[in-house]
Amino acid sequence: MSDTNSFDLIVIGGGTAGNGVARMAANAGWKVASIDSLPFGGTCALRGCDPKKMLIAVTEGVEWARSLDGKGLNARTDVNWPDMIAFKRTFTDAMPGRIEGGLEKAGITVLHGEARFTGHNTIKVNGETLSARHLHIATGARPMTLNIPGEELLATSTDFLELPERPDKVVFVSGGFIAMEFAHISKRAGAREVTVLEMTDRPLGNFDPDLVNILCEATAELGIDLRTRAKVLKIEKNGTGFTVAYETPKGTETVDGDLVVHATGRVPNIDHLDLEAADVEYSRRGIKVSPFMRTTNPAIFAAGDCADSGPNLTPVSANEGRIAGKNLLAGKDECELNYPPIPSVVFTLPQLASVGLSEAVARDKGLDFDARFDKTVGWYSSLRVGARHTAYKVLVEKGTDKILGAHLIGPGAKEQINLFAMAMAADLTANRIKRLIFAYPSFASDVGSMI
Ligand SMILES: Cc1cc2nc3c(=O)[nH]c(=O)nc-3n(C[C@H](O)[C@H](O)[C@H](O)COP(=O)(O)OP(=O)(O)OC[C@H]3O[C@@H](n4cnc5c(N)ncnc54)[C@H](O)[C@@H]3O)c2cc1C
Repeated sequence: MSDTNSFDLIVIGGGTAGNGVARMAANAGWKVASIDSLPFGGTCALRGCDPKKMLIAVTEGVEWARSLDGKGLNARTDVNWPDMIAFKRTFTDAMPGRIEGGLEKAGITVLHGEARFTGHNTIKVNGETLSARHLHIATGARPMTLNIPGEELLATSTDFLELPERPDKVVFVSGGFIAMEFAHISKRAGAREVTVLEMTDRPLGNFDPDLVNILCEATAELGIDLRTRAKVLKIEKNGTGFTVAYETPKGTETVDGDLVVHATGRVPNIDHLDLEAADVEYSRRGIKVSPFMRTTNPAIFAAGDCADSGPNLTPVSANEGRIAGKNLLAGKDECELNYPPIPSVVFTLPQLASVGLSEAVARDKGLDFDARFDKTVGWYSSLRVGARHTAYKVLVEKGTDKILGAHLIGPGAKEQINLFAMAMAADLTANRIKRLIFAYPSFASDVGSMI
């Protein structure tokens, strides 16, 4: 094999879990190649969190204006969809060049193409064989296959974030976080009919049921038609639009849309890698990794959404990449994966946020705790912004006074939850948190009153 085709490290995947590792190795003087089949940047920067939040920033403007309507604010609340997408592109269009340029500046060989394994330390990309002492797999996740007729008619979350025109009638398959966030964006942007079809009794199954109920009320008030116990059976073309058939306890029903979005779960994006050729084991949950991010082939690491480790979130991918990079460079397993409490947020309006144990899990574990649940609509922080769907549930362990979990809904939830995560990671007791001083009036200053 020519010298140009052999490396110290090959990284497959140019997203959050891949790029950091490539840079760490290049900075240490390793000869590194980084490969992506799509523009460099990965899901978060180009097709996920970041572009999504730019659309939400616009619809947040709508929400603030509506909440304060009649309270001294006269504002237009119509959204120009093409302008909003153009606004998003001011960020996303520049990212691949910026990221690729950064990798090249670090001395990394950047390759475009789909990689697959041909041996223990060899891959094929664009018809060429490359070899490396080590490989790092960071190929992310993809929408799960539904195996239903008409599946090919579904738009993906990536398609949704690129829509040139506002959809008029849109149907979301599943009531997961992507569906709920995109449904809120669509409705505030002026879509006439927005329907969410959720198979189980309620959307957002991983979140606290009492707070999800409050979000469902807010979602219904916004005009979104949330149908639960609705299992999608098939999608058919119907003129310029689509008809979605779904099963309910009462029989089969249908709903029409000019766009149907696949918003069900995402699964590890590993089918095309020929992992068997490299003796890298995997399951439905992803590539099998040790707590040191090493795969079953000791020369190969994996991290992020493609690995069978933590939840599919950007900060988790970054953290796993960092651990893989440290162990790669050390040449031994010295840095172990140890997750602090991981907050997660559904960026609907109001936001729903959670960290630590749910009430149900805490009960299953037999823990002795107080569940402090209250609506906060009458609190000053809600009144001053006209928020009508706000609440919290905080679990405090009896005896130790430790926070076991925090679950929040409201306009400040996405920031307040980080304070709870920090307090839990630092083992601050409820009593200690109560004695902290936060700037007033702020959403943070509510935290002490929640425990
Ligand atoms: C719509 C949406 C919204 C989200 N919102 C949030 C949020 O608000 N907060 C949050 O924390 N997380 C969010 N996520 C999840 C987050 O984006 C992911 O957890 C994170 O981006 C995973 O990073 P990664 O590096 O593991 O994978 P990715 O960023 O997906 O990178 C994988 C890369 O590998 C490439 N690749 C795959 N196979 C090959 C191959 N064979 N050869 C070469 N290249 C290959 C892909 O093209 C891709 O660029 C969201 C995801 C989606 C889809």
